[in-house]
Amino acid sequence: LISDLLDVQKIESGKIPFNFKDLRLDAFLKGYRKELEKFEKDNNAIIAILCPDNLPVIKADEDKIKQVLMNLVGNALKFSQPNPRVVIKVGNERDYIQVDVKDNGIGIAKKDLPKLFQKFYQIDSQSNRKTGGTGLGLAICKHIIETHGGEIGVRSDVGKGSTFSFTL
Ligand code: ADP
Repeated sequence: LISDLLDVQKIESGKIPFNFKDLRLDAFLKGYRKELEKFEKDNNAIIAILCPDNLPVIKADEDKIKQVLMNLVGNALKFSQPNPRVVIKVGNERDYIQVDVKDNGIGIAKKDLPKLFQKFYQIDSQSNRKTGGTGLGLAICKHIIETHGGEIGVRSDVGKGSTFSFTL
């Protein structure tokens, strides 16, 4: 909670430092695979990564992109109990790279979708009552992606899982 609050504070004051460097997302995801194995074990989950090789180099802050992925994957696992199936899919479009994080969880009602990226917004659900959370994660993700010049959004239906997508 404290680390989320500090992040938001820094974001609002415009003082959050970004360290843009050359990044190959396919190589980055290969490195990230090992960390995901622990999440899989702890959550009885399967996490698949579908990513083409030889993606173009982009300018990005690797730590911040990792923070976004951790948040989206963390949410996907939290809201897809007891058997989370998560797919991280990377698509190489003409002008941008798109990353989808898809889960098989409880889904989100249409009326809630536009509000999810607001600070402190949480839907009242059993998963939230059990694990708490801060409602800040997606607001932080939105800021990080928009600072990279990308967009973040979500498609979902109640009971049919959710797909969070961002572009870089
Ligand atoms: P937190 O997870 O700490 O509550 P977030 O900003 O990351 O905060 O998410 C805000 C809310 O959006 C969550 O509380 C939950 O209600 C909803 N949400 C986020 N990701 C998912 C998901 N994959 N499936 C269902 N609901 C989700």
